[in-house]
Amino acid sequence: MLKIRLKDKVRVISGKDKGREGVVERIFPGDKKVLVDGINLYKKHIKGGYGQKSGVYDIPRPLHISRVVLICPKCSKPARVGFSVKEDKKVRVCKKCKAEID
Ligand SMILES: [Zn+2]
Repeated sequence: MLKIRLKDKVRVISGKDKGREGVVERIFPGDKKVLVDGINLYKKHIKGGYGQKSGVYDIPRPLHISRVVLICPKCSKPARVGFSVKEDKKVRVCKKCKAEID
């Protein structure tokens, strides 16, 4: 079970976007990677055709999950996430403020 889920707010902790925050748009569980809105953008040259304008586009690339931390929605701080079992369901818990995140 991954600590990061869709629509989580995360902060980047390494690389060129270190310190920036964004919302998780996609998750690639097999690669343990996440795509974060507006983060890890690369310039890509795209040729025109088929209704597509040619030009240089900013394309977001997935980041490895170890390069982001979850921002706790309760205490708004980068959270170390733990798990606890509640009514046979695993829920995520912020280790700082002890709030359940799910
Ligand atoms: Zn918290």
